[in-house]
Amino acid sequence: MNWLPLLHRSNDVKFIIFGGGQVAQRKVQTLTKFTHAITVVSPNLDARLQDLVDQQSIHHINALAQEQHVLQGHRIVAATDNSDTNQEIARWAKALSCPVSIADDPAGSDFIFPAIIDRNPVMITVSSASESPALTRYLRNQLDAALSPRISQLAKFTSSLRKTIRTHFDDTQKRQQLWRKLMSSPMPNLVLAGKEDQAEKVCNEVIAGKSIGEVFLVGAGPGDPDLLTLKAVRLIQQADIVFYDRLVSKPILEYCSSHAEMFYVGKAMSDHSVPQNEINQLLADHAKLGKTVLRLKGGDPFIFGRGGEEIELLADQQIPFQVVPGITAASGCSSYAGIPLTHRDYAQSVRFVTGHLKDGTTNLPWNELIHPQQTLVIYMGLTGISYISKALIQHGMSPDTPIALVEKGTLPEQKVYTSTLANIGGVIASNSISAPTLTIVGDVVRLHKKLKW
Ligand code: SAH
Repeated sequence: MNWLPLLHRSNDVKFIIFGGGQVAQRKVQTLTKFTHAITVVSPNLDARLQDLVDQQSIHHINALAQEQHVLQGHRIVAATDNSDTNQEIARWAKALSCPVSIADDPAGSDFIFPAIIDRNPVMITVSSASESPALTRYLRNQLDAALSPRISQLAKFTSSLRKTIRTHFDDTQKRQQLWRKLMSSPMPNLVLAGKEDQAEKVCNEVIAGKSIGEVFLVGAGPGDPDLLTLKAVRLIQQADIVFYDRLVSKPILEYCSSHAEMFYVGKAMSDHSVPQNEINQLLADHAKLGKTVLRLKGGDPFIFGRGGEEIELLADQQIPFQVVPGITAASGCSSYAGIPLTHRDYAQSVRFVTGHLKDGTTNLPWNELIHPQQTLVIYMGLTGISYISKALIQHGMSPDTPIALVEKGTLPEQKVYTSTLANIGGVIASNSISAPTLTIVGDVVRLHKKLKW
């Protein structure tokens, strides 16, 4: 490799930057985070550089002329907009044995600038050895998004923990073993979630040899993996063991670690592979074994997801857990179908109901559903949708009310069928529509024609 990544103590390093334009400004902006020993040499200055000079954050010289010896002891950045000038500056620097960085000439440079993610004291630097600045920026942004904004707090927490562990354990090997256990315990996530008290409790348990795991109840959204939250991805990647539903799409499962044990626990309406109380128990049992347990559910865990039941047992047994919301099917399907759930001209309220039929019937509060300017979203309704539309008409909803079925919403196979309450039965009979399907009833459905994308 041609470039050696080292961290230099910044207050020992002095810089002279040639150039007063945007390129120089960007380098100076980065460097001001690390040192005040910055001098800019240029007859003109970018407004932001001028601000820094006015605030006395950096020094400014118009030109060097004959006094090249002042470069001695500095790192030089040649960032003028003229490449011949930059090369000349580089020759001065080299003659005085000063390391130099030349804008747009990595081959002639002694050092180059990486992209930086700054979460003091944590710092991540990214470089493509100047081969592809666009790729470097892309990677930097990806890493930045994947990194919890509270990583600094975790750094501070582990730093003070390190002092405690040093005073209690002499043996280096024991200390390393303990750190492995601590970092795979719920401690890091608890600190990242702002629960330092609980994190301390976990640390004490791990140190005393009585560790317990943690459960993440995570909403996987309606199917498109791009709709996962950053937190969901972070937690999914950490799980030792995963219990997932039918509605969790394959590309989402691929975010799980290749070491994670994967268990399908069903949840198609007619296919309760694992009964609910067994799922609740499994989560608790595995956490007690010290594992990081992921319960991955379609959509949002707290919307027709029985997420509440799954964490009740954990709460009873004081097992640490976190709940991560997901984009619920109503939001995902309506956005991807171009059917806004509320709209000033059509609907001022929206109501989510489940159309799950028990014994071929459902006890929905029909009179409340027939509300003008209200959108109705029916989850789990496909098998009963003909029954439900008839019942809505019987209770007074106009047979012409628009209705949409969104099949496999947000996925590449998504299909949207629109009709009216009176005719939807025929649409279902003449198309082979398969679950999952979400039903939207109300005037907002008229917007689909114009807003589909
Ligand atoms: N907790 C989930 C809902 C679980 S109930 C959530 O918040 O979305 C399961 C029902 O959700 C399905 O029967 C269907 O009506 C709806 N659903 C979930 N994902 C869907 C998708 N991708 N397309 C259409 N409907 C979906």
